[in-house]
Amino acid sequence: MSRPKFARRKTRQLMVGKVAVGGDAPVSVQSMTTTKTADVDGTLAQIYALAAAGCDIVRCTCNEEEAAEGLAQIVPRSPVPIVADIHFQYRLALAAMEAGVHALRLNPGNIRKPEHIKTVATEARDRGLPIRIGVNAGSLDPEIAERHNGATPEALVESAVRELAYFREVDFEDVKISVKASNVALMIDAYRLLSETVDSPLHLGVTEAGPPPAGLVKSTAGIGTLLAEGIGDTIRYSLTADPVEEARAGRVLLESLGLRERKGLDLIACPSCGRAEVDVIEVANAAQTALEDLNIPIQVAVMGCVVNGPGEAREADLGIAAGRGRGHLFVKGKVVRVVPEAEMVEALVEAAKRIMDEGIDAVLADVDEDAERIAAETRDELLQIQGADANHDAEKIAKIREVAES
Ligand code: SF4
Repeated sequence: MSRPKFARRKTRQLMVGKVAVGGDAPVSVQSMTTTKTADVDGTLAQIYALAAAGCDIVRCTCNEEEAAEGLAQIVPRSPVPIVADIHFQYRLALAAMEAGVHALRLNPGNIRKPEHIKTVATEARDRGLPIRIGVNAGSLDPEIAERHNGATPEALVESAVRELAYFREVDFEDVKISVKASNVALMIDAYRLLSETVDSPLHLGVTEAGPPPAGLVKSTAGIGTLLAEGIGDTIRYSLTADPVEEARAGRVLLESLGLRERKGLDLIACPSCGRAEVDVIEVANAAQTALEDLNIPIQVAVMGCVVNGPGEAREADLGIAAGRGRGHLFVKGKVVRVVPEAEMVEALVEAAKRIMDEGIDAVLADVDEDAERIAAETRDELLQIQGADANHDAEKIAKIREVAES
């Protein structure tokens, strides 16, 4: 790990799934999906693309019951922790928790009833889930805005502190906070004031920064300035662009400030849900060790099953998915070779070397004709054996409907 060049302000630490935020944890990169959350496969493909681009935590909107039901199917298959973005309807926060999300983001500007806020915080406390208080200059509580003559740094911080007080009333402190604005100077001042006021971890961002290059420059000016002052525990670029651009930009900023190490090989592994056909962690560790020595700057995915693996990780350069004693090697989502399970890591190393020597197109042009057919047959076989609901999503969805409609 390269030495951080900037002393970081001490904050409390919390866990978003397996990712620590705050304290001495590395500054993490976040982004948000742009798909409809009810589109499970489309959203998962974007989540995998974000993970491959260096994103540590992904937020998905939970704006309707169908989105919560989508989350119930997405969370068990996501390689990174999922945060549900909640606006207006506190019941959807309860539904998202039923779906198994790792954290929530609430906007105090649009869920205002104290009893609703406290109901959500109590449930999150009982489940051990953190919440981000996401204050936004554009949707500030009108009463606070009026008292402060607009969205000033003091107004943004007051909104966050008031929300935090509701949480504390129910003994809930597992909170990170953001006070975003599209005006960079306002955003910087608001975060400086916030960091003097609370010891919660801070999520940095310039909201609605717009398309690149202006959006990139604005975000870098705001987030970079604060990080250089030791403020900020997790960051998000909000660009009008493919979210993968957001993740890449966040990663590059942290690397250039010496807050994260540069990545050569990018290995992602699925979380191994009810469909897994191998010990994904064991294969991923073996692949990491074997490929690390080659120092190849490509994205490699280790996936527990061929039912969903090649599709979920279709943005990765190279990957392997298990099924019925075999490994299905895929390049950019296309199955190119099938090997015995014991040779999965060996096949990955060989293909990685070929990609380096000859390029991806050459490897794609030399596909084993039978590979896709065998993969399709194995997929069908597994669906027959495991059924369509290997992760028992139906139970969670029934509970979500109960909570969202009560
Ligand atoms: Fe996705 Fe299959 Fe891994 Fe489950 S086992 S997370 S469905 S690749």
